[in-house]
Amino acid sequence: MTLLTVDPTNPDDAALGRATEVLRHGGLVAFPTETVYGLGAHALDTAAVERIYEAKGRPAWNPLIVHVANAGAARALTASWPREAELLAVHFWPGPLTLVLPRDPAVPDIVTAGLDSVGVRVPSHPVALALLRACGLPLAAPSANRSNELSPTTAQHVVKSLGSAVELVLDGGATSVGIESTVLDLRDPAHPVVLRPGAVSAADIAELLGVPVLRAGGAEGDVARPSPGMTERHYSPRAALRLVDDDGIATLVRRDAGVRNEALLVMQSTISQGLMGAFGRVETMPDSPEGYARVLYARLHALDDAGVTDIYVQQLPDGAAWDGVRDRLARATRHD
Ligand code: AMP
Ligand code: MG
Repeated sequence: MTLLTVDPTNPDDAALGRATEVLRHGGLVAFPTETVYGLGAHALDTAAVERIYEAKGRPAWNPLIVHVANAGAARALTASWPREAELLAVHFWPGPLTLVLPRDPAVPDIVTAGLDSVGVRVPSHPVALALLRACGLPLAAPSANRSNELSPTTAQHVVKSLGSAVELVLDGGATSVGIESTVLDLRDPAHPVVLRPGAVSAADIAELLGVPVLRAGGAEGDVARPSPGMTERHYSPRAALRLVDDDGIATLVRRDAGVRNEALLVMQSTISQGLMGAFGRVETMPDSPEGYARVLYARLHALDDAGVTDIYVQQLPDGAAWDGVRDRLARATRHD
């Protein structure tokens, strides 16, 4: 495994050339996107994509998102490109929105897990874009971690999880969005369905398209249409994670004193002196959904590294702006 630092403000040609070589020969390159780090392989090379599943221990039924340099390259991977896709692409790409559309036959089964749809996205991270342009290939790229582990938001997280399973890691610093992309099912363009909430909200999409946007299989269980990979336990730290409301926190605080190997994640605006002594660690979380998403995985990684066994997370504020973070935390609490 080689780790190369790439300056996002000026991605250097040598590193991109090295990555291109690896990808053209069917190898794996981890690279930063604005959401999380991706584990990339040439999407039209079945053997290369198989290596992603092996490296991650990812179940074969869970499809991969294909990353491309521009909307034209995304369109080339689809069998139909409705007006809605074009509008969304113009408005939100490059950015953290994945579109699920009927696939072109050139996209291998292994990428789509046998579905006749493909998920496509143009990432906005300058290193991801520079790599996609330099190699000229569509890159299948799930998060660069072993399946069921926390997603990586730094190159160090990638190295910790995948080690020698990846040939090359491009280190472009910490990612800015911090949670995975919004996945939007556009197979029926008149009835778009959010399969996974993220930084681009259902309301943003509805406003642009002028139609209602449904939520599928969300944390609240309002299943409209199942999507592979949406039901499994996911995005989880090793520690047991529980969501607690303010009464729950008060109950925890009243317990007998004693050293505990546990942590509380609490919103900055509600932190109080009384909490400090009651938990082994108290992590202050940003009050905005964007700020919270940006630091969430890094905090959970750090708590795992510190050997914390139990993580209590203060219940999030109401509101659709928190849907992405709420979804990830709900999945992280599943320990089945
Ligand atoms: P990940 O690669 O872990 O970020 O997960 C990507 C997720 O996107 C998958 O788990 C699916 O739920 C969703 N996805 C990707 N491709 C498709 C597709 N062709 N149809 C439906 N959902 C998809
Ligand atoms: Mg993942």
